[in-house]
Amino acid sequence: MKAKNFTRRKFVGTVSASTLGAVAIGSIPAFGATKTSNKLAILGGNPVRQNKSWPDWPYVDKNVMDSIEKTTQSGIWCRIQSKDGTVPTFEKEYARMMGVTRCVAVGSGTQALHTAVEALGLGPGDEVITSPYTDPGTIAAILSARALPVLADIDRYSFQVDPDDVERRITKNTKAIMPVHMMGQPADLDRFLQIARKYNLFLIEDACQAHFAKFRGKMLGSIGDIGCFSHQSSKVISCGEGGSIISNNAELMEQCYTVQNHGTSKFGRTETIGPKYRMNEFEGAILLGQLPTAMERHAVRNKNAQYLTSKIKDIPGITPQKLYDGTEEGSFYLYTMNYNKEEYNGVPREKYLKALAAEGVGLSPYIKNGLHREPWVDNIMGRKEYQQMYGKNRLEEFKQDMACPVCDLVCDEEMVMLWASGPLLGTTDDMDDVINALAKVYENRDQLKSI
Ligand SMILES: *Cc1c(COP(=O)(O)O)cnc(C)c1O
Repeated sequence: MKAKNFTRRKFVGTVSASTLGAVAIGSIPAFGATKTSNKLAILGGNPVRQNKSWPDWPYVDKNVMDSIEKTTQSGIWCRIQSKDGTVPTFEKEYARMMGVTRCVAVGSGTQALHTAVEALGLGPGDEVITSPYTDPGTIAAILSARALPVLADIDRYSFQVDPDDVERRITKNTKAIMPVHMMGQPADLDRFLQIARKYNLFLIEDACQAHFAKFRGKMLGSIGDIGCFSHQSSKVISCGEGGSIISNNAELMEQCYTVQNHGTSKFGRTETIGPKYRMNEFEGAILLGQLPTAMERHAVRNKNAQYLTSKIKDIPGITPQKLYDGTEEGSFYLYTMNYNKEEYNGVPREKYLKALAAEGVGLSPYIKNGLHREPWVDNIMGRKEYQQMYGKNRLEEFKQDMACPVCDLVCDEEMVMLWASGPLLGTTDDMDDVINALAKVYENRDQLKSI
């Protein structure tokens, strides 16, 4: 059992060799009198981490600033003004980095997903199965096309949508599955590829959190029929609001361009129904300015995440996100863990998070409600067009089969999240603070009852 293997000695990476020797022979408290105390900070002890800040985010450097200035002065502010503008150049460069033939940039991750749904011809009467544990943009993309987002439950430890439950929810109207690569880690793609093939469904990857994550040698987003990314401020490649779509299917990507260009093709003919979702050149300028150094930051996040996992895996009751076979590199938009209160005398997560925050390590419970618990369900049930498109029986059945108990457990009790875009660019010392705070709260868990 994990609990028996747990020794405080593993968590003293920042103390000196001589102190470490003293710890090994058990002559001083593990955390060292200088660094922390054995009293939780929330009860008046010394915090593990004090007067330190995390790396700034979003990322800005001279290259980014120069790129914005150049665009401002050029007068090329809209992507259709020049084939060599920042947006077309970003599309080429991002496609190259992703190992695909084509990218279309749009105004957000939600817009990317909606454009993909429309370009695949999905709409009224069609069902798309996805996760309830995601950003609202995932289902907004399906609802905007007036298709039906069917939500399948998630896996308790990977936080990814569960392939068995996805398969169970397939009906004759199901046209696509949209797994979400949560936290920037691959969903169970072996299974989703197999399910897509078996039932002849489109596989749309919501890779909005998963830039540069790799599964079996390929970048996430390049594995299904089409993949979508977000470049919103918090994401690892960000320009405030932005999104991108990638695929190797030339015809489909041409259709994406047309859809997001108010239905107007690159030849200037207005051909189909489409919103105007074009990315502007300032957004493109920021993204282009970031790309040359993006892989360096990606590598630092992966290295820090590996270090965190190598230590945290030995702390009882706090389990790093489960990864599927085939995962080669994560994106680490978030670093997430599962909290098991049984190991903490039944203390609820809220108290645990308060104790950690007092130690100077603020972690978040992340998503409050799975999307199956949000009011849109009743909203579409009451809409004339949804009643006409899907029929009363299907909608009733849809609502009755909405339960996602594992997602509820993760939301209500178990998720513990460190936002990673900026923080995981920190030093080993920063990572040790996280590890030491988690270890200290575990060791002093008996004190949690009195907060
Ligand atoms: C951020 C995000 C989106 C939406 O992207 P926006 O750019 O905010 O519209 C969709 N899905 C997931 C999983 C996300 O994290």
